[in-house]
Amino acid sequence: MIDFQLTEEQIALRDKARKFALEEILPVAKKYDRSGEFPREVIEKAFKAGLMNLSIPKKYGGPGHGTMESVIVVEEMAAACAGMTTTIYVNDLGLMPIILGGNEAQKRKFLAPFTEKLRLAAFATSESGMGSDVAGIQATYDRDGGNYLLNGNKFFITNGDFADQYVIFARKKGTMRHEGISGFVVPRGTEGLSTSKPLEKLGHRASDTAAVKLKDVRVPGENLIGGEGGGFLLAMMTFMHTRPAIGAMATGLARSAMEYAINYAKQRDAFEHKISSFQAIQDMIADMYARIEAIRLLTWKAAWGLDHGQEDNIASSCAKLVGAEDSMKIATDALQIYGGRGYLESYAIAKLFRDAKLYSIYEGTSQVQRYVISRFLFKEYKPTMIGF
Ligand SMILES: Cc1cc2nc3c(=O)[nH]c(=O)nc-3n(C[C@H](O)[C@H](O)[C@H](O)COP(=O)(O)OP(=O)(O)OC[C@H]3O[C@@H](n4cnc5c(N)ncnc54)[C@H](O)[C@@H]3O)c2cc1C
Repeated sequence: MIDFQLTEEQIALRDKARKFALEEILPVAKKYDRSGEFPREVIEKAFKAGLMNLSIPKKYGGPGHGTMESVIVVEEMAAACAGMTTTIYVNDLGLMPIILGGNEAQKRKFLAPFTEKLRLAAFATSESGMGSDVAGIQATYDRDGGNYLLNGNKFFITNGDFADQYVIFARKKGTMRHEGISGFVVPRGTEGLSTSKPLEKLGHRASDTAAVKLKDVRVPGENLIGGEGGGFLLAMMTFMHTRPAIGAMATGLARSAMEYAINYAKQRDAFEHKISSFQAIQDMIADMYARIEAIRLLTWKAAWGLDHGQEDNIASSCAKLVGAEDSMKIATDALQIYGGRGYLESYAIAKLFRDAKLYSIYEGTSQVQRYVISRFLFKEYKPTMIGF
């Protein structure tokens, strides 16, 4: 059965997220974008409203929501501010390796505290020397009695400065490529872990991005998640679960860009007519709406599949790829409809344009999503009509 209706609970959650986005995020979005200050007070409110850590299972004190609920919530929030939404959602990214690969004791220890008070999580595969090629991780670990000793540098880590808990991926000394990689939970304050100043960014300025340095960071054996050598697969499984949310954030951002563009086109005169009367403008707006509908459907399909036990990383990659590329196109066209004013920071469209770019970079670039999808098409895809 195919059903595109949200349940009553999902509609209530969407409305709650929309109200939160309108009342708590949108009014301060510009302020945080300008200052680059970490929006802790908004994040605290999101936590108290029950709009964070949606993936933590009920058993460990969380709401136990599925991916569908996550995509519904982040679409609404990203329509108000992409940066704050990334800050809010990155907890799910930072906790997902524990949800997917942790044992009972680890889940109790590393998930439950996130339901008691606001805590921030971070996920770290990237390094300054590599981001796309996760199998190329250079940070190392070594056994040290019952402990592990981590060394190396992580770069571009969201919540890097503020996280209470990191999941850090490193390779066993002397190993090569995929098989040597493992994931470790590292609590903030562990000796040897230090962070850089926040990195200044083009957009998403209300999310913190920093470098994380590991110098003889000692973690107990029980902080290893998913077994030794299981880190590469764990990171990929994590992305499969979180990439649909990037498609959903892109949907929300694109929706706002379209709404601003419609509003502006209805007011702006040129050649003695409202610009909304020109077919070139109408075409752009119509394309925006059709693309937004398409991204949302791809996102919902990927999320629904995950909630129904389908481990379909291609669906997740398609949602992220199309979301990233189409939201950038929509933000670009919306800016174009604003003409010269679109280029001014005093109009909201400039922020949407800057923010949209990140969707094609983090959690795997658009080129990486295409690589994943094309590898599937060349290796596993079964032709429907042509029986080679
Ligand atoms: C604001 C921000 C927040 C981030 N947050 C996090 C985080 O929380 N945790 C984390 O671990 N990382 C994070 N990242 C890092 C992000 O995931 C990487 O930047 C991204 O994966 C790309 O890696 P790179 O920058 O090293 O680019 P590279 O991997 O060096 O790629 C450079 C270019 O080459 C292309 N390319 C690379 N390989 C291929 C290929 N095989 N085929 C075709 N083209 C290819 C890329 O698409 C890109 O265009 C964040 C990045 C940013 C900017």
